[in-house]
Amino acid sequence: AFVEPIRLELPGPMPWRAMLVLADDTSSKRAERMRADFLANASHELRTPLASLSGFIETLRGPARDDEEARERFLSIMQVQTERMRRLIDDLLSLSRVEMNEHLPPSGAVDLCELARDVAGALGPVAASRSIGLSLDACEGEAIVHGDRDQLYEVVENLVENALKYSDDGGSVAISVRADLTRDAAEHSDERIAEGSGRLTLSAPPLSSEARYGVLRVRDCGQGIDRRYLPRLSERFFRVGGQKSSPTSGTGLGLAIVKHIVARHRGGFTVESAPGEGSVFSIFFPAVRKSATDGNEPVQRG
Ligand code: ADP
Repeated sequence: AFVEPIRLELPGPMPWRAMLVLADDTSSKRAERMRADFLANASHELRTPLASLSGFIETLRGPARDDEEARERFLSIMQVQTERMRRLIDDLLSLSRVEMNEHLPPSGAVDLCELARDVAGALGPVAASRSIGLSLDACEGEAIVHGDRDQLYEVVENLVENALKYSDDGGSVAISVRADLTRDAAEHSDERIAEGSGRLTLSAPPLSSEARYGVLRVRDCGQGIDRRYLPRLSERFFRVGGQKSSPTSGTGLGLAIVKHIVARHRGGFTVESAPGEGSVFSIFFPAVRKSATDGNEPVQRG
């Protein structure tokens, strides 16, 4: 609510002023509730593997003490649970770091083609182990964008890891990079997943029809996502099909991290998907003009 300051003129030589502030606390209450939900979710997600670990320790000390086969089986389950906790803690730390410096504009210039090549190289063995073809389809133009390389690496790594995770063995994942697109072309992929697929902009930069953008898309032919879930994808801990606490990989924090990093870079983040057909996740950022004198100016046209 907006309230005019009230000027109180009181008798005497000094004019006295009073300010009446009426605050609408709906949004602060909402933020409070979100923080509480986040803590409850985080504790629950951490407690589940812990409870399972302590259960197995009990069993190993008692009934399974002399059963070699059971011991091996339990130890490998415990290893999976420990790995899951490590991933959760890494993601929680990453999310908190990203949130902390979200207001600081990133400095530096990042070549999206180089980034895509590095991520594809690093995740190549994971793809190969499941016979998934991971390719860098197109690298058109000089897609140099403003940004923090480590954070943008994390974004692309998250998207490619998801594409692999939600693909069947033997599937295919393609990364493509394009430079010098208008905002409209960057936001609206010309690739179509399938007739009637759902598409959504998960985060958009302030409108600027002047600027040019570098775009990176990750396309998979995996399980896809029902359109009704698209708006919830970047919510913390949201996993389609309520796979919460599932012992398999995935924390439900990856796309929340992506969204925060993209927002810090004043970039955009879109998804297009259809169940059974696959998904395209796109990110786009203002391009940098590459010149000897000034390497950090956004390319402006017009
Ligand atoms: P997670 O760690 O569970 O993968 P994310 O935040 O990265 O968490 O993604 C949230 C949810 O979105 C996932 O649990 C999954 O259900 C869905 N999802 C993300 N990427 C894809 C994809 N490429 N294909 C199908 N579903 C996806």
